[in-house]
Amino acid sequence: MNLKNSKFYKRIQELRNFSKEKIRKDREQRGLRTAVIRGVEMALSESKCSNQVIELEWSQLASPAKSLSSPRRRTSASKNKPGKKRPLMAGDARSKGGQGFRPVKPVGSDNEAAVTEGFIELNNLRYRVACSGRPGSSPRHDERPTISDSKSAICVSNSRYAMIGRISKSLGFKLVKECKMWNILWSDSFPGVELFKNMKRFQQINHFPGMIEICRKDLLSRNLNRMLKLYPHDYKIFPKTWMLPADYGDAMHYAQNHKRTFILKPDSGAQGRGIWLTNDLKTIGPNERLICQTYIHRPLLIDGYKFDLRVYTLITSVDPLRLYVYNEGLARFATNKYVEPTPGNANDLYMHLTNYSVNKRNSQYDLCDNDDCGSKRKLSAINNWMTRHNYDVNEFWSNVDDVIIKTVLSAWPVLKHNYNACFPGHDTIQACFEILGFDILVDWKLKPYILEVNHSPSFHTNEQVDREVKRPLIRDTLTLVSTVLADKKQILREDRKRVKQRLLKSKGDTVQRSRVVAGASKVTPNKEGSPTNKEQSPEPEIGSLAQQIAWEESHMGNFRRIMPPPDASRVNYYCKFFGQTNQVSIFQETAASKKREDLARKMRLQIEEKKAKQEQMLLARSKRKRLIQPRLAREKHRLNLFRLKENWSPGFVSEAEERLRNTWQQMRTEAIRNLKITENIYALLFEHGHLSNTDITTFPNLYHYLQCGYDIKGAT
Ligand code: ADP
Repeated sequence: MNLKNSKFYKRIQELRNFSKEKIRKDREQRGLRTAVIRGVEMALSESKCSNQVIELEWSQLASPAKSLSSPRRRTSASKNKPGKKRPLMAGDARSKGGQGFRPVKPVGSDNEAAVTEGFIELNNLRYRVACSGRPGSSPRHDERPTISDSKSAICVSNSRYAMIGRISKSLGFKLVKECKMWNILWSDSFPGVELFKNMKRFQQINHFPGMIEICRKDLLSRNLNRMLKLYPHDYKIFPKTWMLPADYGDAMHYAQNHKRTFILKPDSGAQGRGIWLTNDLKTIGPNERLICQTYIHRPLLIDGYKFDLRVYTLITSVDPLRLYVYNEGLARFATNKYVEPTPGNANDLYMHLTNYSVNKRNSQYDLCDNDDCGSKRKLSAINNWMTRHNYDVNEFWSNVDDVIIKTVLSAWPVLKHNYNACFPGHDTIQACFEILGFDILVDWKLKPYILEVNHSPSFHTNEQVDREVKRPLIRDTLTLVSTVLADKKQILREDRKRVKQRLLKSKGDTVQRSRVVAGASKVTPNKEGSPTNKEQSPEPEIGSLAQQIAWEESHMGNFRRIMPPPDASRVNYYCKFFGQTNQVSIFQETAASKKREDLARKMRLQIEEKKAKQEQMLLARSKRKRLIQPRLAREKHRLNLFRLKENWSPGFVSEAEERLRNTWQQMRTEAIRNLKITENIYALLFEHGHLSNTDITTFPNLYHYLQCGYDIKGAT
């Protein structure tokens, strides 16, 4: 009898499945939900539940249809329940125009509830989150979800920095290979699009697709120049820059009217390679691909040395844009005392460049563990120096933040487009985060200029100062990215289910993508957009993005948030830059720059044609000259040239010389024959007994050879 067919066996299986399902649901409802809500609560109880809660409304200003295209948005928007009075979910507060934020009225100042309740407003939805205690009450640390709780796995095999693996391990991450189900992939280089596309919904990677737009010198220049054209008063954040050869004419025109020094860099170079200074742009060929910049000739000096700042910035999301700046960073010093550029010192790279890779080769490089000396110092030491010299440190850093925000905003449309194209289904956590290294040069007026953005800043820890800055940076970054909010197992289960459903087509084409919304059961909107399971969601829901934001706000470490700006008055200011695509499409601009390049190419061809014509004319003239000169004289001249050459080798045989030699030889033979010298010699030899008749018969050619004047050795 087959036991598997028995009723008893089937019943046991049913019960087993039932209890498994029940346990799973139970755990989901209790475990994850409470963990996440607690995360949000902590965020709010730590900082946000004050009497003056300023709310930021993320308004979809550009085109609502477009901006609501991501599944995350669709689901969030669909959660508004018409008819039911929910004052804290203000889905109707929608605005029109560009895309960005706008401040709404401060809440909570006059009502008691706002003190104990917090709000996160995103995607036109306001999420209500209750604080567990009074403002300022500390969160219960024992209940805080940690990375080790979530059993997150990280793959660092594509990174050369051992430190990242070590820190991840100490934070509770499991180190895995790339082929395994990692939560985070940390790579030093930009991964291919395929990798982005195959990522699961719980996975994160440390690069955003399209970040190259600001990380390559030529693309950064193009984007910043475009923004400067659109916002001439706001975008003076970088030195005047031309992309050669496209902007060759512009650069030459500027050079003619301004007496300036220029710095020239290869368009995709790094580490100071191939950089030089000049004040004569005519020395540059019209075909060279270079970035030409005005040289900031009066930089801020400390102890007489030029320096630049490496500011680490973390991007956790591009749509909406969220930026954090690390409070600690590095100042890299030049190793020769600074003097304004002159033709005499323009070649001194140790004076004009501040790259570590250049200056470490100088014997003057100062390895010093003290904060206020050394060729590499911490930003905190620079802040102290500024305070001592009565500079306004806060104002300076708010200017630096402004430069960083504007630089990222110049590529924002591309970043947003690429992200949405690569991760249409990533609705649980953000698929990417990225640490960018901003190189900032400060002039004598304390104005910061962006020089370069590095997508993979160096995490080498050669010096003590590196260790003190970079280790906490990695640690804080890994803590801030929110892997803990994604339940790997549940997402995999859901994905499997989805695939199964699609294959079986059990529910037709209208199978809704379920979302992981902690603290809420899944919402399936009907045609009118109202949720069908009203009874199952008694509490206000917390969207996945709101969870992430709450998590980030409560795990900032030494980061400070710069976007959305903490100062509400700045929100409106940045709004306009989000609307850049409404004014000039970046693709239009690309077409314009292509046109410029086309024009430059045509100009180049014309110049080359002209040059070729001139050369031909010169050649024709010299040919005519050659015809006039007698052949012998030309030949002599050529020979003289050869002989004058230092490396003249005797192996060379001139044709004319050879001809001359042959002629002389023939003349000599003729002379010998005419003077009958051979006969006389023969007779003489015969007379003296040196030759006999026998000789003549033995060597018949001898007489003939003697007669022709040849060497008689060959005849004997
Ligand atoms: P790389 O990527 O090769 O390091 P950068 O653009 O960062 O190239 O320039 C290298 C160094 O040259 C900078 O650290 C800075 O000291 C100096 N530098 C670059 N541009 C300018 C400029 N416009 N004015 C003054 N100094 C500059």
